[in-house]
Amino acid sequence: MRLVLLGPPAAGKGTQAEKLKKKFGLVHIATGDILRKAAEEKNPLGEKVRNFMEKGELVPDPLLFTLLENKLRGRDFVLDGFPRNLTQAEKLDRLLEDGIDLVINIKVDEKTVFERISRRLICPICGKIYREKKQKCDICGTKLFRRDDDNPETILKRIEVYKKYTYPLISYYEKKGILRHIQGNKSPEQIFQDILLLLKEEGIG
Ligand SMILES: [Zn+2]
Repeated sequence: MRLVLLGPPAAGKGTQAEKLKKKFGLVHIATGDILRKAAEEKNPLGEKVRNFMEKGELVPDPLLFTLLENKLRGRDFVLDGFPRNLTQAEKLDRLLEDGIDLVINIKVDEKTVFERISRRLICPICGKIYREKKQKCDICGTKLFRRDDDNPETILKRIEVYKKYTYPLISYYEKKGILRHIQGNKSPEQIFQDILLLLKEEGIG
């Protein structure tokens, strides 16, 4: 099963990807995690990644694809937060011999995206994000914070970036006939049930 999850920031892609990973034994690929992990490696590739991240720059596609290649080839996976734009989507198609089975677009309106991001808290140590009100991290017990870049101005900017670069992927995958929509204004468990139903209907779940 090779899945891509699309949707605006805070649509719940990461949560659903984790659930799918557990249910179907998929590799959950979140590019942020892959980059962070690569940056910890003491090898030339890791050093390159580290350099971009320390400067706060985007890691260029060729480097990102080198890292992704080994994780994707011949595996069952769920991609979350990638591809981010048409160029990446086209490159991904060339990389995957068997293609993508299904692209699931989690639909959430802008107002909800804004509210969800404004509310969320992050653990400064392990990076886990919490949507609900909470004092300390479940995993490591560290005090939770609001991220600096979760202020109204940057949230709006992120929504704009999504609309400009990522939103066009919907019609890209629609034309390929592999795009399906899921309503995202529900609880994570309800969304997951909808996804399971969809996968069954498509004959891949
Ligand atoms: Zn933590």
